[in-house]
Amino acid sequence: MRERFDIAGGLGIDRLRAQWDEIERVQQRVKIKLLKGTESDICEDGSLDYPDHVLEKFDIIIASIHARHKMDSEQMTQRLLRALKFPFFKIWGHPLGRLIGSRPPIACRMDEVLDTIVESKCAREVNLDPDRLDLEPHWIRAARTRGIKCIVSTDAHSIGGLANSNSSLCPVTQTKDTRPSRFSIPMRRKRVREPI
Ligand SMILES: [Zn+2]
Repeated sequence: MRERFDIAGGLGIDRLRAQWDEIERVQQRVKIKLLKGTESDICEDGSLDYPDHVLEKFDIIIASIHARHKMDSEQMTQRLLRALKFPFFKIWGHPLGRLIGSRPPIACRMDEVLDTIVESKCAREVNLDPDRLDLEPHWIRAARTRGIKCIVSTDAHSIGGLANSNSSLCPVTQTKDTRPSRFSIPMRRKRVREPI
């Protein structure tokens, strides 16, 4: 069993249970629905870094790659296909992993990956971190054509990161065949740097 919980703030099972207990206590006092969520790492072999009996208890799972970005296209495609086929709903986070100006997108057979998402309990994220802006518009269009659900996300790691929702570079608005965005698009882009 894997014991890697790097991106989830290093939360092991005990601390995770404590977090869920706290969420349930707070839920008694607030009217909005609180979700138990995590960003789970897609490991090198395509597994996720929590065991299945833990994953199935989350309300929301973002599955993302945070290491080994330089695998070749065949290996990376197999890694993604395994991760995205897991039988619980998940969001494919910052899908191609690029960092503008410093890290190119991962290599994979994207059409095959998108076709797999159609068959899976899965959506893909459009990440508004100004260093990511991932997926690119042509891949958003390809996903939309297939009817894949899109989650537009700030990738906020802090309250300040929520300002990424103001990104005037939102890739969704750059797809010609998309409806107007629900998000406000300011004239000036506010850049907020957050840790990866
Ligand atoms: Zn991430």
